[in-house]
Amino acid sequence: MEKIEGSSVIAERTGDTCVVVIGAEHGNEPAGVKAIARLHDLIGSGDWQVNSSILGLIGNPRALEKGVRFIDENLNRAFGRSTPGTYEDARAKEIARWLTDVKARFAQAYVIDLHSVSVGETRIAIVMDAERALFASAVSPIPFKLIAPGDIIPGTLLGFAESIGMIGLVVECGNHSSPQGETVAMEHIERLLGHVGALSSKTSSFLDRITFEGDVRTYELTEAIRPSEGFAWSIPVSSELSLKTGQEYARDPMGPRTAPYDCYIIMPSKIPEPTDYDAGFLATRA
Ligand SMILES: [Zn+2]
Repeated sequence: MEKIEGSSVIAERTGDTCVVVIGAEHGNEPAGVKAIARLHDLIGSGDWQVNSSILGLIGNPRALEKGVRFIDENLNRAFGRSTPGTYEDARAKEIARWLTDVKARFAQAYVIDLHSVSVGETRIAIVMDAERALFASAVSPIPFKLIAPGDIIPGTLLGFAESIGMIGLVVECGNHSSPQGETVAMEHIERLLGHVGALSSKTSSFLDRITFEGDVRTYELTEAIRPSEGFAWSIPVSSELSLKTGQEYARDPMGPRTAPYDCYIIMPSKIPEPTDYDAGFLATRA
């Protein structure tokens, strides 16, 4: 297996199934990094015994080093649409090659991409399309499920992984600073390994340590909120904030931004930058 910066072999087994655990695709999101380290400990010590290969990847090691979201541009919008010459342009291409290599070796390849949010303690299980809804339900105890089509949120690692035949899930593990982020991440990894039949025995378990609030609900992203110079939220935003048709939610020098239909705000950035692809998304209940 080719090694790239930030990649690690957590378990190497014969067989055609592999699970790839990704942390810090954004450098200021520690849950996945801690989970990868924990996974090395659990499997290295024999606490967890696995019969499939497991790989770890620190998505954006430079940004992680600096404790920032990214160096030049958002890595999770850079797959296939990066700006030439940026660090993330090179990194997205490197990760794409690496994942392609992984998929070439394993008929069944799964990706779990662990993130966190800047506003609130939102936890979300995200898949690309409705076909993955059952997979999301099997692996994630989070009641808030999100379908995030590639044309609404382009350039993601998830979209790339799915495009080469991998089965992917993104988890928003709560706030960047949440002390429970690692536990949320570990519960998902444990459930994913269980789902694919990879976990043959375990002493420690992370299942059901956290109570996830709210009813089971699924949203589908309908459009990106594209920021511009001078863009600012008009109201205190958070995920699942409901908007009525015509309601103002943001403003820029061109005027108010209003809801085109009854919808919800999903994954808003606390302080959107004009250069960001999105300041968040609009979604409807699926
Ligand atoms: Zn993230």
